[in-house]
Amino acid sequence: MSSQTPDLKSIVGEIVGDMKKRGDKGKVATYIPELANVDPDMFALVVIDAKGDVAAGGDFETPFSIQSISKVFTLTLALGMVGDRLWRRVGREPSGNPFNSIVQLERERGVPRNPFINAGAIAVTDVIVSGHQPREAIGEILRFMRFLADDHTIAIDRAVADSEKRTGFRNVALANYMKSFGVIENPVDFTLGVYFHHCAISMSCLQLARAGRYLAHSGRNPATGLSVVSPERARRINALMLTCGHYDGSGEFAYRVGLPGKSGVGGGIFAIAPGKASIAVWAPGLDSAGNSHLGRIALETLARRTGWSIFGV
Ligand code: GLN
Repeated sequence: MSSQTPDLKSIVGEIVGDMKKRGDKGKVATYIPELANVDPDMFALVVIDAKGDVAAGGDFETPFSIQSISKVFTLTLALGMVGDRLWRRVGREPSGNPFNSIVQLERERGVPRNPFINAGAIAVTDVIVSGHQPREAIGEILRFMRFLADDHTIAIDRAVADSEKRTGFRNVALANYMKSFGVIENPVDFTLGVYFHHCAISMSCLQLARAGRYLAHSGRNPATGLSVVSPERARRINALMLTCGHYDGSGEFAYRVGLPGKSGVGGGIFAIAPGKASIAVWAPGLDSAGNSHLGRIALETLARRTGWSIFGV
């Protein structure tokens, strides 16, 4: 990277302009019925640099369903609660399988490959649920998101949570299967209820990029000065995002973008340029692996224009 700070505002403005014009938007998720109502033309990009300067464009203040992006924050919370004991219940290897795959779980005796596939995230949620009523656990996760973003308006979209509760049969199967191996401690309904609710958190790209700044800055949020996790833990969460954050599209994302990132079926992607920036993009249309199609293309352009890929310029 050149020593000069790139002009982020103009780069972001150009990317947003280009993306708004494109016809290849991908397909909005429909397996959670409520997500099918989202306007496929929405697009937002936010980059917050190390100084706290914000470059934002498009629909960057419009809240969307963060879905699996919430898994980065529940992982952070669960590690804070039980530390490395978490890794007895979930692995740290990329899955090479779709996010809701069941086959691998049988081969691996109910221990999910990583905390970002659905089974792994459900196991992580179960850790947060232990010792709490589901309502308290949901409150704890929401409070954590509000604390990270320093924004008390962040909320859960009940319609999205209820929609997934009514139709999330595959997640019910994954959770019951893990329960049969003792990987889930709490009643399956409790853990899944909390999982569906944290996936249904609504946030704008601006709120998301603010919430994730600790991962760009060695575990400390520069806006509040508060340490969220140790530098070592922040580095490790970033490593997991790089290797597992896009399911069976993780290799392609690393190849094209070269930044740790986590996608969600709401069309959001949260990404980190270590030491440099916290980034959020939202484009609801997905590719065949369930990752935002234009979101990935936007990040690829951003990484190229800034030279921020962790693998070199
Ligand atoms: N709540 C969604 C599900 O469990 C999350 C999936 C995703 O965002 N990839 O299916």
